[in-house]
Amino acid sequence: MTDLNRTAIQEGTDMTVEKIEIDTLVIGAGQAGVAMSEHLSKLGVPHLVLERNRIAEAWRTKRWDSLVANGPAWHDRFPGLEFDGLDPDAFPAKERVADYFEAYAKKFNAPIRTGVEVKKVERNAGRPGFTIETSEGVFEANRVVAATGPFQHPVIPPIAPKDERLHQIHSADYRNPAQLPEGAVLVVGAGSSGVQIADELRRAGKQVYLSVGPHHRPPRAYRNRDFCWWLGVLGEWDAEAMAPGTEHVTIAVSGARGGHTIDFRRLAHEGMILVGLTKAFNDGQVTFEPNLTQNLAGGDENYLSLLDAADAYIARNGLDLPEEPEARNMLPDPDCVTNPILELDLMDAGVTSIIWATGFKLDYSWLKVGAFDENGKPRHQRGVSSEPGVYFLGLPWQSRRGSSFIWGVWHDAKHIAGHIATQRKYAAYKDADQRDAEKVSEIRDAKKESVA
Ligand SMILES: Cc1cc2nc3c(=O)[nH]c(=O)nc-3n(C[C@H](O)[C@H](O)[C@H](O)COP(=O)(O)OP(=O)(O)OC[C@H]3O[C@@H](n4cnc5c(N)ncnc54)[C@H](O)[C@@H]3O)c2cc1C
Repeated sequence: MTDLNRTAIQEGTDMTVEKIEIDTLVIGAGQAGVAMSEHLSKLGVPHLVLERNRIAEAWRTKRWDSLVANGPAWHDRFPGLEFDGLDPDAFPAKERVADYFEAYAKKFNAPIRTGVEVKKVERNAGRPGFTIETSEGVFEANRVVAATGPFQHPVIPPIAPKDERLHQIHSADYRNPAQLPEGAVLVVGAGSSGVQIADELRRAGKQVYLSVGPHHRPPRAYRNRDFCWWLGVLGEWDAEAMAPGTEHVTIAVSGARGGHTIDFRRLAHEGMILVGLTKAFNDGQVTFEPNLTQNLAGGDENYLSLLDAADAYIARNGLDLPEEPEARNMLPDPDCVTNPILELDLMDAGVTSIIWATGFKLDYSWLKVGAFDENGKPRHQRGVSSEPGVYFLGLPWQSRRGSSFIWGVWHDAKHIAGHIATQRKYAAYKDADQRDAEKVSEIRDAKKESVA
């Protein structure tokens, strides 16, 4: 569904640029762009998706080699297609996830142009729509949907030391253990990325220090149900806002090696050294906040609260799911918890690398419209921005907790497509005078045709 209009426009005296007109332009063909295209197609909205790389590029090349989805195949997918030939309870490898979105786009013949980067979007002055500058020419659109991802730019905090002896990378640039120099590693950040990378490095024989902040760590599975199922039936994926005070709480889950619960004490008993939040670096020394015990206790509380909620749900609904009392057993605190390290000399400890698993930020510097607040954050309601005609998709917590995840983005895309379809109806409305004038001109045209 594209309906492209092409016109050649003169730029200055000697340059002719092809200008392509389209009703709705979607920028980015990750899962968000593919979902958007599906819903726009269903509603008959002419549109085009521009992607600077390939479909689902982030799943192909922006993540580490061994990554698998954090959710099982039955859950981390769109409603219209299952993972072909995969056990529904398995965790698909990242390449399989990318292949899935490619196949999905093919299934409904999504109008996606790859290898086209959007450089600038500006509202037209004195007429409707937007002008979009891209690496392949100029586009005009009535509406734009920014589906460029929730995790655009890796963030390394300013405390990172300027020390050439240390090999420092963001988790977005981590691929595998062989990429790091000999020696111990400090992994800063213990969300799903940090803890999975730290575990892989330890299994590869490295001494790993893992800096653990406030986190949630739901059980991978409890009483024969994956936590994705529990969050679904308990309504947690649909939570509309973060609980107050949890803005800096990360989630630690893993689908690696068939999926397992993140248990920091187990990792420590296996040889990993846990430390609290990383505070500062000075003259080769790193200091840690004295909050490791507190952070682990917060994670335990979250873990146990899910077990309680699950037990209550089972009792309330009379479900026949096997009891699992052993899930409540906690391992004893390892030495690094009872005697926490608050200061470490990096060279003495043999640390040669630091991996910053410290998250990402958004970057809409190319979107030159008034849809942002004073902190540069998108101003929107469920993705419908404060600037008419501009939409965001795939933002964390866009409408609910699930918004930046595979299954959640599909539902947000549906809402946005509905909004676009409604706006197109308003735009198509004609008052009685306009309708009469149209009728007169139709009659005139018909007469002309019959004379000819
Ligand atoms: C390590 C990691 C693991 C994850 N695991 C899971 C998981 O297991 N399950 C789950 O549900 N979610 C997971 N997520 C979260 C989320 O599903 C992914 O981040 C997903 O890639 C987001 O999809 P998206 O389409 O919103 O953004 P992206 O996949 O980032 O896609 C955005 C696209 O926009 C393109 N683009 C950007 N700027 C421009 C431009 N100016 N012009 C043209 N194109 C542009 C990019 O090339 C990119 O292809 C994970 C995230 C990370 C970081």
